[in-house]
Amino acid sequence: MKSSSSVVAVIGGGPAGLMAAETLAAAGAQVQLFDAMPSVGRKFLLAGRGGLNLTHSEPAARFASRFGERSAQIGPWLDAFGSHQLREWAHGLGIQTFVGTSGRVFPADMKAAPLLRAWLHRLRASGVQFHMRHRWLGGLEAPSDASMPGRTLRFATPAGETALRADAVVLALGGGSWSRLGSDGAWVPWLADLGIDVAPVLPANCGFDVGWSNYFAERFAGQPFKSVAIEFRDSRGRQFERRKGEFVATATGVEGSLIYAASGLLRDEIAASGSATLTLDLLPDRSAAQVLAEATHPRGSRSVSGHLKGRLGLDGVKAALLHEVLGRDGMHDMEKVADGIKALPIRLVAPRPVDEAISSAGGVRLEALDAGLMAHAVPGVFCAGEMLDWEAPTGGYLITASMASGVVAARGALRWLERSGR
Ligand SMILES: Cc1cc2nc3c(=O)[nH]c(=O)nc-3n(C[C@H](O)[C@H](O)[C@H](O)COP(=O)(O)OP(=O)(O)OC[C@H]3O[C@@H](n4cnc5c(N)ncnc54)[C@H](O)[C@@H]3O)c2cc1C
Repeated sequence: MKSSSSVVAVIGGGPAGLMAAETLAAAGAQVQLFDAMPSVGRKFLLAGRGGLNLTHSEPAARFASRFGERSAQIGPWLDAFGSHQLREWAHGLGIQTFVGTSGRVFPADMKAAPLLRAWLHRLRASGVQFHMRHRWLGGLEAPSDASMPGRTLRFATPAGETALRADAVVLALGGGSWSRLGSDGAWVPWLADLGIDVAPVLPANCGFDVGWSNYFAERFAGQPFKSVAIEFRDSRGRQFERRKGEFVATATGVEGSLIYAASGLLRDEIAASGSATLTLDLLPDRSAAQVLAEATHPRGSRSVSGHLKGRLGLDGVKAALLHEVLGRDGMHDMEKVADGIKALPIRLVAPRPVDEAISSAGGVRLEALDAGLMAHAVPGVFCAGEMLDWEAPTGGYLITASMASGVVAARGALRWLERSGR
């Protein structure tokens, strides 16, 4: 393969860029990997803090369906590198994995650091050269000497600006969240300037603002809602099916796994209608009839809160939320209270800013790329990872698809180098 003498620049050292580098180096390309930060894989390491959820063990078709409208395009990436290959790959680095009760897959020690260390060691051994504190400045100039192939890339470094000519380029710049870890979304206008179609970068797997009263915010921010259920239907009839789980009250609204799961629909509904109202069941293990019977049971001289605590075990943040939504008068109508306990409307008015989100939606539209993830507008330039316009829930889908797209972009680059005789 001609690629043995080709220089391929990979920009971005997250899971997508590292996987692209590994695939390219294995085929004999000279890989130069650049990252703006002092070290690579910072978001990957952060993901390891709460237990690195590498992938999911569910069947391939179900796995692919998690990418919603993008399932058809992402399915082939997962054929190239899906959850099975990802686990094999981790095992190849000496990292055993296990399937948790939910079907999620984790490294045996739950950590990201040992895996990243072993991976970087293997990448260096395979010849990948790392250039840290090299921030790509946008722009992909054709060399001034027209006889020279490839593109010239410019980087800001602590020693000043530097340039590199590469035969092909893989951009793996990450999405738009947690900018302090490197993925700051600054590339959005740069790629648009190059004629690459980019969808607006939006928060995904994110929290929302409700606008609590000062009383509720001061006393209950940080408190978890455990064993609750939510459901949501948007104005177009799209539905988030009733699901049990947990979330947390924040100073301004709500966040946490159950909210993240519904966040794509909620975000889109807020964009379309100005707000989104989800339905919360505070006692999902009790039927509406049971709750009504207990709530309307004569309470004698007991206060409403004492009554709800005594008959239904409802207190703390759950009781406070009921009060927050129904108001003082509503709390004295026990039929309303019973309805509220089983179906409390929570009106969300805004998603939290993208920088706070677990991931981002939007980015380089897949229609702007060919099947090998090369930009139609800029031949020889490939894109991979969260910077592409797809989104998925948490559950290991984000890392898997980022790495899979790294493999696809690298293979695309190798094919292109061969076709163009470089
Ligand atoms: C708190 C948290 C927990 C998470 N947990 C999980 C989890 O358990 N499982 C899961 O699947 N996913 C998880 N994710 C999501 C996952 O980490 C990301 O989807 C994944 O890291 C995206 O990989 P990427 O390679 O596309 O981008 P990134 O990992 O964001 O890497 C992009 C890289 O590009 C570099 N870069 C950006 N711009 C430039 C530039 N101009 N020049 C040079 N370098 C540049 C950045 O410095 C960065 O190193 C989590 C995310 C967060 C925030």
